[in-house]
Amino acid sequence: MLFEVVSPVTEEVIATVEELDVAQTERRIHQAQRGFESWRKVAPGKRAELLRNFARKVEENLEELALLEVKNSGHTISNARWEANNVKDVLYYYAGAVERLNGLQIPVQGGINVTFKEPIGVVGIIVPWNFPMPIAGWGFAPALAAGCSVVLKPAEITPLTALRIAELAYEAGIPENVFQVLTGAGRVVGESIVTNPLVKKVVFTGSTEVGVRIQTLAAPQIKPVTLELGGKSANVVFEDADLTKAAATAPYSVFDNAGQDCCARSRLLVQESIFESFMEKFEQAVKGVRVENPELESSEMGPLISASHRKRVDSYVEEENVLFRGSCPTGTGYWYPPTVIQVSDANSKVLHDEIFGPVVSVQTFKDENEAIAIANDSEYGLSGSIWTSNLGRGIRVAQGVESGNLSVNSHSSVRYWTPFGGYKKSGLGRELGPNATDAFCEIKNVFINTEL
Ligand code: NAD
Repeated sequence: MLFEVVSPVTEEVIATVEELDVAQTERRIHQAQRGFESWRKVAPGKRAELLRNFARKVEENLEELALLEVKNSGHTISNARWEANNVKDVLYYYAGAVERLNGLQIPVQGGINVTFKEPIGVVGIIVPWNFPMPIAGWGFAPALAAGCSVVLKPAEITPLTALRIAELAYEAGIPENVFQVLTGAGRVVGESIVTNPLVKKVVFTGSTEVGVRIQTLAAPQIKPVTLELGGKSANVVFEDADLTKAAATAPYSVFDNAGQDCCARSRLLVQESIFESFMEKFEQAVKGVRVENPELESSEMGPLISASHRKRVDSYVEEENVLFRGSCPTGTGYWYPPTVIQVSDANSKVLHDEIFGPVVSVQTFKDENEAIAIANDSEYGLSGSIWTSNLGRGIRVAQGVESGNLSVNSHSSVRYWTPFGGYKKSGLGRELGPNATDAFCEIKNVFINTEL
């Protein structure tokens, strides 16, 4: 069976893609098992070389991949270039890890213990539609480096770059049964991956709701899962911050990728004493965001991913709560303007649900303790920013906020050589950073008796 892929910019069908059923998925998982059995035996130097070849292929085709993502996902061309480049970077980074998968040797009474890091087996990587390229790469690069084979399931609506990346992997010499892309429905292909006993580890990025289902399905097999889930992060601005910089960057900390970003700082917390002066600058910045055809070099925000998603985002916005808005094109494309809202009820779902669109709510706080309390008033804990010129305060607040990734005087979230993941319902486990390969290894501990 085939399913259609629609561009959120033109609303036209741009491709048809294979929709696998359960039997086909199982066959592909068996192939991945055969791939694992040979890939784990490839000498580390050779495996590293193949991953570097793969990285080089991605690098040579960056512009093509970026343009494909613009068409399929509506990402701005500058973001899409960053995303393709990120895949190249993680491949180079984890190619360097292959030769450092070292165990330990531990002296013990009567002998010595040695530990081996052994690849866990076939790894299932299930990714969402909002960042198809980097999120896939954060899983497959360390998994392949560790000696695992990979079955990668892209989201139904954004499969095109994953399919192209697989072709580049094969051109680079990665065997076809070691890295496969399985397209189709989450309930069918996704669940077959999670429940198949040959798949020894699942990395899932997506909604908390589906994350709960994946963990439940994996539990009877005691199958390890890494979960990267939703977020409702805070951007906290103190009165001693550089207000000009904080206001100028605040729109990009939430409207980037049209707000379809798990790290979006969708709750803006501003200290009472500077509320008016900050909001004046912030309004100017929001109205300056260029929402336009994402293929244009000047574009800073593209459309939302689909008509149904736009409807969902809009359902959170009531006109009386809107403080101000930016502009966006009308007509073809799933456009939505950058929108700033303020609600008085602290229990409002606007302040607690992940809206996943270009909508930010504004709240005020009196002091540090209240800022931390509001930031923590969420079932999520993925990201966040703290703006202050007092470094001690920056660190105190960062220590107080229950979140996996925070930045002080910055709105950045991800650096591939540092760990990434969430507290609370934002996830389980960490991706990226120097230890990411550990998630794809079993540790075997062997005692050698030296007294015989
Ligand atoms: P989603 O949970 O609907 O789907 C994610 C993936 O899971 C898709 O490939 C989908 O086909 C698959 N899937 C759906 N049901 C499944 C099932 N029952 N079994 C197995 N697989 C299934 O999420 P989405 O709408 O594609 O993405 C948006 C969500 O992803 C947001 O909540 C966002 O916060 C989250 N996200 C988190 C991170 C992070 O790193 N924490 C990063 C990006 C996105």
